[in-house]
Amino acid sequence: MSQKDQNTQILLSSRPQGWVTLENFETVQTSIPEVQEGQILVRNLWLSLDPYMRGRMNDAKSYVPPFQVGEVLQGQAVAEVVESKHEKFGEGDLVTGMFGWEAYTRSNGEGIRKVECDGVPLSYYLSILGTTGFTAYLGLFDVGNLQEGETVFVSAAAGAVGSAAGQIAKLKGCRVVGTAGSDEKVDYLTSELGFDAAFNYKTASLGQALKESCPDGIDLNFENVGGDILEAVLPRMNDFGRVAVCGMIAHYNDETPRPGPRTLPLVISKRLRLQGFIVSDHFDRMQPFVQEMSGWIAEGKVKQRESVAEGIENAPEAFIGMLKGDKMGKQLVKVGEPSA
Ligand code: NDP
Repeated sequence: MSQKDQNTQILLSSRPQGWVTLENFETVQTSIPEVQEGQILVRNLWLSLDPYMRGRMNDAKSYVPPFQVGEVLQGQAVAEVVESKHEKFGEGDLVTGMFGWEAYTRSNGEGIRKVECDGVPLSYYLSILGTTGFTAYLGLFDVGNLQEGETVFVSAAAGAVGSAAGQIAKLKGCRVVGTAGSDEKVDYLTSELGFDAAFNYKTASLGQALKESCPDGIDLNFENVGGDILEAVLPRMNDFGRVAVCGMIAHYNDETPRPGPRTLPLVISKRLRLQGFIVSDHFDRMQPFVQEMSGWIAEGKVKQRESVAEGIENAPEAFIGMLKGDKMGKQLVKVGEPSA
């Protein structure tokens, strides 16, 4: 293995106070780990950057343990097995799993599954055909109990999960309205992804924009943001509406928790159901999603935009940009090419 001399790794060098900055990361060169019996060594090809990683940078108890200062950051990745002493994996296998923000990762194979390069780009296993698309599917159907003909509202709609959620809801015969943080993103939602209406939450008056774009109210709110957007959406919800609480990115960089939403008491009079969910609790439901989504991709019924940073050393900057909304669609880092 000719390239086995050096491993580029991105470490958490300090915990962010408020907004994450480049100073919170450190790039180091280390030697590539030796593979022991029952282990594999993978060369990372694609790395997914996800907002929940911001929470893992804090020293706080959550559904995933925090990253440790001085240790390699981690995320969902697609990789190629370059050395195997594990009975289930062979050299050249393409796999997906939680790997480090690094060129090479050693693993005992737990939580790793093989992927086929069968007509879809490998990156799709981290985006529309992976956890991102599955999050959208799960939030709409299992949590949101989506019904044909309903009005669905999606925040962070031009992002990875939001753009998938909006397109799936359209495929299921719903009226879909979204919000995003630039006019270019708003245009993308309506002209390319088929949203029925969209507005820029940074420039619009939220209450007015929701009234105009959702004249019949909202039956299902796919919540990705929280903050002012959730506060404005609740009064627009129809009685017995559902809020699938996927994320609250507006809060992730807060130094102190903020109060609100002030409209929360409407949950009672409108008899709303708000339910949070974590996608990793439901991986047993992945198969029906993969089947349905593969069909939609093959038929050209869903579009997928990816923002790609080249090289593992650019992951920190791309991560900060993703949190700030600099790019559209799924934020990925291309770490390498498959050898075959
Ligand atoms: P995105 O691709 O949507 O990227 C994040 C986007 O959030 C940015 O592009 C930005 O777009 C928007 N944003 C950032 N700050 C704010 C703000 N203050 N107000 C409004 N919008 C903001 O990320 P994902 O699709 O990966 O994730 C979307 C949400 O889903 C996140 O909250 C994430 O934590 C959650 N999630 C939850 C999962 C679960 O299991 N529950 C699994 C995966 C994701 P813009 O330009 O529009 O502001």
